Amino acid sequence: MPLCVVGSVALDSVETPTETRENVLGGSAVFFSYAASFFTTVRLAGVVGDDWPPQYNYLLQARGIDTAGLQVVAGGKTFRWRGRYLKNMNDRETLDLQLNVLSDFDPVLPEPYYRSKFLFLANGSTVHQLKALDQCTGASLVVADTMDHYIRTEPEGLKTLFKRLDGLVLNDSEAKLLTGDDNLVRAGHAVRKMGPRFVVIKKGEHGAMFFSQHETYVLPAYPTAEVVDPTGAGDSFAGGMMGYLAEQDNFEPKTLKEALAYGILIASFTVEDFSLDRLRTIQREDIEHRMEEYKKMLSF
Ligand code: AMP
Repeated sequence: MPLCVVGSVALDSVETPTETRENVLGGSAVFFSYAASFFTTVRLAGVVGDDWPPQYNYLLQARGIDTAGLQVVAGGKTFRWRGRYLKNMNDRETLDLQLNVLSDFDPVLPEPYYRSKFLFLANGSTVHQLKALDQCTGASLVVADTMDHYIRTEPEGLKTLFKRLDGLVLNDSEAKLLTGDDNLVRAGHAVRKMGPRFVVIKKGEHGAMFFSQHETYVLPAYPTAEVVDPTGAGDSFAGGMMGYLAEQDNFEPKTLKEALAYGILIASFTVEDFSLDRLRTIQREDIEHRMEEYKKMLSF
C-alpha cells in the first residue's frame, strides 16, 4: 500500500566526538522515506533549494521513492541543520538551524498522493502538517511526529493536529515537555488523551513504549555497540514502523507491535554510520536476520 510522507528535507552537518560531516543528506522525511522503502512504495513531499545535489534525488529514486512531491525553489537554499553529540552519543545540541526554503513551504501535493492509504506527517511545522493532512483525503491511518521546537512554538497548532491523528510518535523528553509529567507511563497516556488513538514514545538506546486505550508496553532497543551517528534514528524508526504497516495493509494491535519492532531494528542500522550510509548497504534480508536475533533475545 502506498505511504505518503511530508516533512523536512535537509543538508545536515553533524559533529560527533570523533568525526564531523558537512552537508550530508538528512531531514525527517528523507530518513523516514529511505527506511520505509524496504517495505513499501513511498511518496515523499517536501521542499529544497537549487543547491540540492541532484545525486541525492537519484539515491532516493533508486529505492523506488516517488519524489514528484519534492518542490525545488529556484534561487532558494535548502533547510540546514547542524548538531553536535555529546560524549555519551545520546544527548545532542542544535548548533544552527537555517529554515531557508522551509519557512515559505506550501505543501501542495501531487494529485496521486491524495489517495495514499497511509500518511506520515514527519517533523515540521504544524501548518505544513495540517495542510498536507487536508489534501490526503484517502488516508485511513494518519500518524505524526513532533519535536521540542514545535511543542514550544506551536502549541495551538499541535492541539488541532492531535485531534485528527490516529497515532503520534515523539521522544521521551518531548512527552515530558508536552505533559509536564516525568513519569513516562503517565505522560504517554496523557498525550493519548489529547487526541491520538495510540502514542509511541521513543527512548533512544532504551527502545520504545506503546500506549493505546487497552495496551501499554515497552520494546527494548536492539543492542548496538557501534554508534557512529544517531541522527535520523527517530525518523527511520517511524519509517520502519509505517513501512511495515503499509506493507501488511492493516494496523491491528498485533501488526502494530511487529511494526514497532521493525522500526527499532531499522533505527539500529541507521546509527551505525552517518546520514543514510549504513542503510544504503543493507537489504531486506539483513533486517529479517536482525529480527531473528531480536526475537531470540526477547524469548526466555
Ligand atoms: P532525529 O535524529 O530522528 O530526531 O532527526 C534528525 C533530523 O531532523 C535531521 O536530519 C534534521 O535535518 C531534522 N531536523 C532538525 N530540526 C528540525 C526541525 N526544526 N524541523 C524539521 N526537521 C528538523
